[in-house]
Amino acid sequence: MEKQTLTSHELKRQNRSNVYQYIYQSHGASRPELAAALQMSLPTLSQNLSELEQEQLIEKAGFKDSTGGRKAQLLTCNALARIAVGAEILKEFVRVCAIDLYGTVIDQTQISLPFSNASSYFQAMVSAVQSFIDSLPLEASRILGLGIAIQGLVSADGQKVIYGKILDCTGLAASQFGRHLGVPCLLIHDSEASACAELMHQGHISHAVYLSLNRNLGGAIVLNGAIYRGTALMSGTMEHICLIPGGRPCYCGKNGCLEAYCSADSLKKMAGMELDLFFKRLRCRKEEEVSVWNSYLEHLAMAIANIRHVIDCDVIIGGLINTWMTDEDFSLLASLVQRFCPLSQQAIRLIPGCHDLNLASIGAGLPFITGFLNQI
Ligand SMILES: [Zn+2]
Repeated sequence: MEKQTLTSHELKRQNRSNVYQYIYQSHGASRPELAAALQMSLPTLSQNLSELEQEQLIEKAGFKDSTGGRKAQLLTCNALARIAVGAEILKEFVRVCAIDLYGTVIDQTQISLPFSNASSYFQAMVSAVQSFIDSLPLEASRILGLGIAIQGLVSADGQKVIYGKILDCTGLAASQFGRHLGVPCLLIHDSEASACAELMHQGHISHAVYLSLNRNLGGAIVLNGAIYRGTALMSGTMEHICLIPGGRPCYCGKNGCLEAYCSADSLKKMAGMELDLFFKRLRCRKEEEVSVWNSYLEHLAMAIANIRHVIDCDVIIGGLINTWMTDEDFSLLASLVQRFCPLSQQAIRLIPGCHDLNLASIGAGLPFITGFLNQI
């Protein structure tokens, strides 16, 4: 194979990126450590460090503990060098947060704003997001962009909703928000946004299925650490797997979808009460609630087993229902999945998702962070 040689400009860029990425990934490194790990000459390293420091992308942060001799200066990334704003549009309100370069939430707010696919809504949302941005103790020039998580499938370029039945927003364009805000704006499918934030939270997950048991059910497929969207961008829409042919109606127009059996809304309907009361009664072993819950878990297990026949990997269970689930529920669910999977004796690994209700808004801001980090 022909060996490719880098031009001096490419080499310079790669060195700079390697230095920054090492400091970013290690959450702080010293010059000797960087020189050894990157096998870089001290003059080249020094030049890159001084450039990155001048651009305020890295900073000196005290000294690293050493076993003897001179203590080494510790260099860390300036996590606030750039920030991204993420929003999650829901039927009744909007969650907004600002995240730093590590995806940590700097500030967040919730705005009561019922959704409507109308210019008055876009204006109200833009003005609320603008007030939030203005309240941040950072210059606006650091903002990379606004990511908006929405219940719907989004075009590959993040500019348009291509299927938005829940909010009746098919065709909605990112430009409705972006042109008034003056920062780049992207739309992102909400379950994909949650999955991205979950991946960052869990760390080191290569392949997984993400199931979000929210008011409406959602999902995402993670392959090689990234979301696999598929040819028609509908990969991971597990909510519309047909579980019971001819069963309960789903908002998509079909019958018997997983959505109609395992979303939080469907559980609420089956329970005939608010979910916090349902789980209180369930934990007191009330007969009716135990029976509803067992039927819920059985349907969920059936779906997970079907998914496992297509892609055999860990399953992350997130969303609202997860916040009420106990270790005992997870064990029961795993054993039910096993019952529906006769091909393998190996138990499935079900991973409880994190309980942060801001997950989708955090994930909505992440594409801007990733984009920025990749171009350094
Ligand atoms: Zn459906």
